Amino acid sequence: MDKGSVLRVIEVTAHVRVGTSEIICEYQGMTEPNHMCQAPKPLQSGDLVTVKNVAPTSVLVTGPCGCDFLLWGRLSVGTAGEDTHTLDDVTVATTWDGLLDLVRQWMIVRFALNTDRDLWAWMFVIGSAAHLEYLAVAVLWVADQKPTSFNEYQPKKTLGQAARLVRNRDLLDPATVETLEKVAELRNSVAHRGATYGVPFREGDPSRGEYKGRHIFTDPEGLKQLIDDVDAATQVMGEWLRKAGLGTNAGTPA
Ligand SMILES: [Zn+2]
Repeated sequence: MDKGSVLRVIEVTAHVRVGTSEIICEYQGMTEPNHMCQAPKPLQSGDLVTVKNVAPTSVLVTGPCGCDFLLWGRLSVGTAGEDTHTLDDVTVATTWDGLLDLVRQWMIVRFALNTDRDLWAWMFVIGSAAHLEYLAVAVLWVADQKPTSFNEYQPKKTLGQAARLVRNRDLLDPATVETLEKVAELRNSVAHRGATYGVPFREGDPSRGEYKGRHIFTDPEGLKQLIDDVDAATQVMGEWLRKAGLGTNAGTPA
């Protein structure tokens, strides 16, 4: 089974079986993508899918609707008409490719982050929130006259809490404070509640993945707005800290 090869979906029940005239693979399950196509449609037996990526225990395929489905947890592989062979779990689990495949499957199955777009957008939310939190706490630390070393600085705040303190003490401009608050809300929506259903999906909670009224996983304008706001807030806080005599280029404030 190689990249670009076409497979026929044989069976979609508790497990998923796909194959060609020569080979048949059985998987534990399949993820439903966050469809961006005109006519979303689940995979059915008889559908033809194109292999997009092959990993030791999973395969990413493009379905008839044009969206990608991950077939995960490969159970067996066999030649058509012959006995199937179960995989050697030990070998799979001790190679980097095998381990990263297991990590990827875990992320996809747990959070439904099954496209690079979803995965990277999610990582940007988590990463940018951590970065803004660090800068906002540094602003508070400087405003408090550096009462302890930065690492011991109390109260150690979440981004949302730090944003509230910054607002109450009028330390930064309203637009920057709003960005901190909205990024904190966005981050919480995809780090806690989002984990229970699927991070990039809005079903059951329209506020999940939403930034300033736009869904960052499906609306490019929304993701663009987020990137621009994060850059602007980083700039403002970096400038504030430099003016206060605290360079942040070297990492942890001295
Ligand atoms: Zn689709």
